[in-house]
Amino acid sequence: MSYAANFERMGRGFDLAHAIAEADRCLLCHDAPCSKGCPAETDPGAFIRKLRFKNITGAIRTIKTNNILGGACGVLCPTPRLCEKECSARFQSLARPQGADRPIQIGKIQRFLIEHSWEQGSEVFDKPEPRPAKIAVVGSGPAGLSCAAELARDGYQVTVFEARPEPGGVLRYGVVSYRFDLQFLRREMEDIQALGVNFQCNSAIQGKESAERLLKNGYGAVFLAPGLWAAATLKPTPEDIEGLFSSVVYLAALRDGRLAEMARRIQGRTVAVIGGGSVAMDCIESAVKLGARDVYLIYRRSYRQMPAEPDERIEAQEAGVHFLLLNQPVDYVTTDHNRLQGVKLVRTRLGEPDDSGRRRPEPIAGSTWVLEADVVIEAIGNRAPEESPEWYPHVKVNGQKLIQADPASGKTSAAGIFAGGDIVRGPALVVQAVQDGKVAARAIKAYLDQ
Ligand SMILES: Cc1cc2nc3c(=O)[nH]c(=O)nc-3n(C[C@H](O)[C@H](O)[C@H](O)COP(=O)(O)OP(=O)(O)OC[C@H]3O[C@@H](n4cnc5c(N)ncnc54)[C@H](O)[C@@H]3O)c2cc1C
Ligand code: SF4
Repeated sequence: MSYAANFERMGRGFDLAHAIAEADRCLLCHDAPCSKGCPAETDPGAFIRKLRFKNITGAIRTIKTNNILGGACGVLCPTPRLCEKECSARFQSLARPQGADRPIQIGKIQRFLIEHSWEQGSEVFDKPEPRPAKIAVVGSGPAGLSCAAELARDGYQVTVFEARPEPGGVLRYGVVSYRFDLQFLRREMEDIQALGVNFQCNSAIQGKESAERLLKNGYGAVFLAPGLWAAATLKPTPEDIEGLFSSVVYLAALRDGRLAEMARRIQGRTVAVIGGGSVAMDCIESAVKLGARDVYLIYRRSYRQMPAEPDERIEAQEAGVHFLLLNQPVDYVTTDHNRLQGVKLVRTRLGEPDDSGRRRPEPIAGSTWVLEADVVIEAIGNRAPEESPEWYPHVKVNGQKLIQADPASGKTSAAGIFAGGDIVRGPALVVQAVQDGKVAARAIKAYLDQ
């Protein structure tokens, strides 16, 4: 299979028979611990019970009512540490032969039900009575989409302003297509558009007071959900070095019709990815799929301290990625023409715990060495743009320029302005952004009804 075909589509999910067979394993727990494990209150206990009793329409309605991005969450949620971690079926294994039991595959059932609703053309929501109040949503990632859908379902006039040419946030311009393809996103977006949400793409709300000005321009409330799109870098001006990319630029290129260009740069080359989180895992796996000769992962702490999910780390190892643990990049080596040649690394050892509670990596004196590399991708974190506080000067931000908002309502320090998603939490999960959008939508309704 060519690399392009590798990237085009994500793997198939459950079919009806498989989903029902999996639901039949459910213990129908009265207290449904799985439901308590979902940050967006998608309520797996309820939709699995409905599926089990063949009420498929009801199961779909439960998901979509609670989580407008139920399909995306079914595919992308790290369920082993959320709903599936709480599932009672997994505890049965104590009394059974090893491997005989495991949690219900909740994410896969959820994905199936949403795909089934598209195949069947199910209509989940009734048309609401229109209300005159206008609300502006800044950013069309999971937080913005969830807030917009929740308000539109109640008849509010919602306009989503999106800086990029197409909506979806990280779902559109971040997550690699073999994990979440454009077709799937398009279907999920259609469900939101059918609610009457108005999207204005290529419309960045930036510049002095631009977000606050929306209130003066007739919007009753504003929900800020611009996410984190500025890349943290090892050196202040990395874009000058040919062969050096931030994960933001690299992953957006893969999603933006520039797959062939990236393949040309990576095929047969040595690629090093810096970072230990899930974004770094997307970068290394995609580099392998693009045909890199060797892919190195550089991480300054130990394997156990890596923030990436355990299954992602195992998959990377199985794909043949070389893990350079306890190595910290300090500089780049380039030719006279500023073409990347390698990364200068220093070996580290673990010292006392730092603020994060993890043992701090300490450089070992005299242990510097150079890893030769043709391409380096920095996946060392995303942050808010430096100037973003100017867009909303009355909204309190912290030292990292993250917006300070009340977790129970999304309220910021400026009346009528609410916020949620990564711009409040820092790098988080799709399902958490969905919940922030819902919480803020409820608070916006209360604010407008005052
Ligand atoms: C590469 C990658 C892979 C990930 N994989 C997963 C995963 O598998 N599972 C998971 O649960 N989470 C994953 N995450 C995390 C998850 O995607 C984020 O937590 C989530 O998308 C945050 O949603 P958001 O709505 O806050 O922001 P975003 O998704 O970042 O969306 C913000 C939107 O606002 C727009 N915007 C920015 N500034 C402006 C402006 N001034 N005016 C108008 N629009 C603006 C942006 O263009 C963007 O479309 C991943 C993150 C990354 C980066
Ligand atoms: S916890 Fe597991 S077994 Fe119990 S209701 Fe939820 S999915 Fe079913």
